[in-house]
Amino acid sequence: MSDPFVPLVKPPESLNAPALWFAFQGAQLLVRREEGRALVPSARQPAELGLEALRSQYLGLYEGIHCFACEIATQAPAPEGMVWTGLRSLFGMVDDELFALAGRAIQIMDWDRSHLYCGRCGTPTVVKAGERARQCPSCGQVHYPRIAPAVMALVRKADRLLLARSPHFPPGMHSALAGFVEPGESLEQCLVREVREEVGVEVANLRYFSSQPWPFPHSLMIAFNCDYAGGEITPEPGEIEAAGWFDLDNLPVLPNKISIARRLIDSTIAQIRSEKAVTN
Ligand SMILES: [Zn+2]
Repeated sequence: MSDPFVPLVKPPESLNAPALWFAFQGAQLLVRREEGRALVPSARQPAELGLEALRSQYLGLYEGIHCFACEIATQAPAPEGMVWTGLRSLFGMVDDELFALAGRAIQIMDWDRSHLYCGRCGTPTVVKAGERARQCPSCGQVHYPRIAPAVMALVRKADRLLLARSPHFPPGMHSALAGFVEPGESLEQCLVREVREEVGVEVANLRYFSSQPWPFPHSLMIAFNCDYAGGEITPEPGEIEAAGWFDLDNLPVLPNKISIARRLIDSTIAQIRSEKAVTN
């Protein structure tokens, strides 16, 4: 299936149809709630919705419709029939592609807000034409949106999976291990280090699974399968509250389907089941 969204930087000269407006008040998105669904408001200008945009960024075309992100002042009330809502609570209430677009929009607005002044010399920046960037007119520094890559590792030992929980997880929930890539590190080096630090286990046979933008706030999660290669599970104090080997008949509470962690775990469970079916 082709992606319904085409990212673009240069806004149209004029609009001959309403555009979709991803209007943010901090991390809260404006939506119209309707019977378990959420709709992103459409208008030619935020003023049509009764909103005053502090700044806006053009995003591109979603199913042929122009899309903008904008920032609304913190005290502005939601227009009649609409609500400010956290992005996570929108999962399942809008199409997955639109949810991903909302994640893109919030990251762009967060970057825009965070780079109004040059981080090198403090001068107010200006939008750089033709690129998703803000430039400093004084020192010339160009500020692009930053993405923080993070690696996720699901360690397998025969038919069992290494699942762990960090102290901030909901009660009972266990997941794969994950951590941010450090400067100068490859994804593979990061994975080996994270697993070693978090649970004291060595791994081998790293296999790329998939990736997912994770806009909380601006990560890109890159998920791998790998095999156990040695060591005893020793949870890292403060980071890992509990960790263990789980077989398929004894799985803990798993992460929500919003996250790549769940897809990684589900896919590995299916793989183990199919291997067992062959050997039985
Ligand atoms: Zn500067």
